[in-house]
Amino acid sequence: MLQLVNVGHKALADYATIATRGLMEEIRRLAAPLEGRRVVHLSATAFGGGVAEINYTLIPLMQDAGLETEWRIIRGAEEFYNVTKAIHNALQGNPQGLDDEQREIYKRYQALNAQELEDDCDFVVVHDPQPLGMIDHFPDSRAQWVWRGHIDFSAPNQSVLDYLLPSIRRYDAAIFHMREYVPRAEGLPPAYIWPPAIDPLAPKNMALSAEDAAYIVDQFGIHVERPLLTQVSRFDPWKDPLGVIDSYRLVKQRFPDVQLALVGSMAHDDPEGWEYYNQTVAYADGDPDIYILSNLNNIGSVEVNAFQVHSAAVLQKSIREGFGLTVTAPLWKTRPTVAGRVGGIVTQIQDGATGWLVDSPEECAEACIEILRDPREARQRALRGKEYVRRHFLTPRLLRDWLVLFNRLLGNDTSGAEVAVVSAVS
Ligand code: UDP
Repeated sequence: MLQLVNVGHKALADYATIATRGLMEEIRRLAAPLEGRRVVHLSATAFGGGVAEINYTLIPLMQDAGLETEWRIIRGAEEFYNVTKAIHNALQGNPQGLDDEQREIYKRYQALNAQELEDDCDFVVVHDPQPLGMIDHFPDSRAQWVWRGHIDFSAPNQSVLDYLLPSIRRYDAAIFHMREYVPRAEGLPPAYIWPPAIDPLAPKNMALSAEDAAYIVDQFGIHVERPLLTQVSRFDPWKDPLGVIDSYRLVKQRFPDVQLALVGSMAHDDPEGWEYYNQTVAYADGDPDIYILSNLNNIGSVEVNAFQVHSAAVLQKSIREGFGLTVTAPLWKTRPTVAGRVGGIVTQIQDGATGWLVDSPEECAEACIEILRDPREARQRALRGKEYVRRHFLTPRLLRDWLVLFNRLLGNDTSGAEVAVVSAVS
């Protein structure tokens, strides 16, 4: 059997004060006909990256809503993760395709994992490309299969997308963060568009006082009285940590006191991570005001929270970004947020109103300088950013969207359910 993830327990009722009453009632109404339905989520890792982050909240809340929900991790080894990272990069636009050997490895692991999946659920939810092809081994499944793509598919490498399309066509539904990500191809299942969400009650996002945040970052050597810029991200070229260092160096010319923290955990399915981590360390060139930290330095959820809360500005200078939970989180914490004008980030930040969208290290530096010069004005934007997140990107809304989809797949009447963020594109 595939490894089961222990997600602990969460109660929907705890979210009542954060979500609107209408939404909580809608969740209860949508959950009633789904009582006892069995759902299995499949993904490649339980640690590192946005999918793991989302599932640790979504799954216990689905359980609390009355669905028998579990999350299993597919098996892999380095040869497989090398291929899935190549697929990930290609789907985000890398011109490098897959050779025959890589295709063989991908297929072999799909078959191996399929053998270990018990196909006895009502819904199988497959996250991202790593387990995407398992469906090929269940031609007679009675379950409804849903594929949830979390990355930026707006300009994919066509040969790799074509390789995956026959599997995608077998699904009963597919979900994307944005309309622009839906592949332009014949015979696809209905596509639903909705963004992910953060959990406002998780240790990573729960309220943390400025004093507690300062106390925590101080333990990592940060000078708490001097300004800090932070980016929280996996060490991945699409997240552009080297560009962040370039921006920081420009800011430092104007604010010599400024410090930079690059906080990035190592996801276990990301073999490129180490290489890129080393490149980042080399690029920082021993600058004592650049702090490159990861789970290896004992950075966990609360520490990520503290770094975001303590920062004068939080950056996410991505070049491609499926959605960017690392943008949602600082907005929720009322932090001035500067991020790349790409992918799902543009659905989160209204440039000039709720944050800063940038296209280059220079623009990124200018935004940081503006924030450091006028923190009061920056806070006004950040406050608007927080309200936007409250309305659109918190977990109860995400749970609601899933319940709408499950009901639709069962042919249940969802009229009256508010489905503004869900739109079939078929
Ligand atoms: N994350 C973390 N520690 C790190 C790097 C990332 O906890 O050192 C978390 C981050 O807080 C966020 C998630 O991993 O919740 C990353 O999701 P995002 O959508 O930003 O990007 P992805 O990694 O999925 O591309």
